[in-house]
Amino acid sequence: MSEKESVILVTGGAGYIGSHTVRMLAEQAGRRVVVLDNLVFGHREALISPGVELVEADMADARSVAEVFGRYQVDAVVHFAAFCYVGESVTEPLKYYQNNTAAPLTVLAAMRESGCDKFIFSSTCATYGDPVEVPMSESHPQNPINPYGRSKLMLEQILADCERAYGIRSVRLRYFNACGCSLDGRIGEDHDPETHLIPNVLRAVLGETGPMTVFGTDYPTPDGTCIRDYIHVEDLASAHVRALEYLEGGGATTACNLGTGKGASVREIIEAAERVTGKEVPVRYGERREGDPPELVANAAFARETLDWEAKIVDLDQIIGSAWAWMTGERKGHY
Ligand code: UDP
Repeated sequence: MSEKESVILVTGGAGYIGSHTVRMLAEQAGRRVVVLDNLVFGHREALISPGVELVEADMADARSVAEVFGRYQVDAVVHFAAFCYVGESVTEPLKYYQNNTAAPLTVLAAMRESGCDKFIFSSTCATYGDPVEVPMSESHPQNPINPYGRSKLMLEQILADCERAYGIRSVRLRYFNACGCSLDGRIGEDHDPETHLIPNVLRAVLGETGPMTVFGTDYPTPDGTCIRDYIHVEDLASAHVRALEYLEGGGATTACNLGTGKGASVREIIEAAERVTGKEVPVRYGERREGDPPELVANAAFARETLDWEAKIVDLDQIIGSAWAWMTGERKGHY
């Protein structure tokens, strides 16, 4: 019998953070990557690296998952596939529990069956809920305030059980605010609908939308607007590569915050966008958005110690510049 080829399986690899990670795994870490993506939100065009294979299927489809595990020796799973709209998770919770919590069980079952024991999970700071202290470390209580956060926390808990029962080790990467686009402008952020601050600011500058709305100016922060920890997508991608290497080196199950450790307010983002674009951002000031805490900033020390990783692209102008370059470039067939 011929030996099966070893691959890294990336679920949701055609999405925003997934596609940047796939590219880094393939082009910088020299890994053979198979992407499992149903292309509901992912983009075929975001898979630009030679040798990356796309299996267009839903991870809930046990037959397709079994087919991948039958054809390849899956050394590790990097799991991104998920819905990510907090507001929608409140009105459609079952959709979130089905896709974010239940569907990955198919993949975990196939891992158990085949003996694959490494899982890297795209989790979120939304698993913490309202901050009781900032910056937030990994030991911060996890009390999510919406179904999105709960759907991710439940998978974290399932992973802990899977380690005890089946020896599947995992790194749960709790992202703060993912942002920016690849520094060479070739792949980027393309959500529909788009709810995130930086693309909304830039779309307003481009005249693609009306003025962007600042959600609340009466928060207890120095300028009255919310503070977030904006972490560049290429830094997120490199953390996944480091997490893979960590598990391959025998590392134990763990959870790491991925952030810069430094916050920026909505007004600071708008000012940076004005510097980068040389244009005024059309703005209107609105009410607070429900569920937005005033400040979310990571304590990123543990990721540094455990994964030997830290954010490198931390200058706001560079971060926003990367998104601007992408949005004003070809966008490679997206939209
Ligand atoms: N925000 C805003 N206007 C927008 C989108 C976002 O004022 O059109 C604010 C939002 O209230 C939050 C911050 O920008 O304080 C980041 O929001 P985003 O949706 O990008 O990420 P989240 O923090 O919800 O994950």
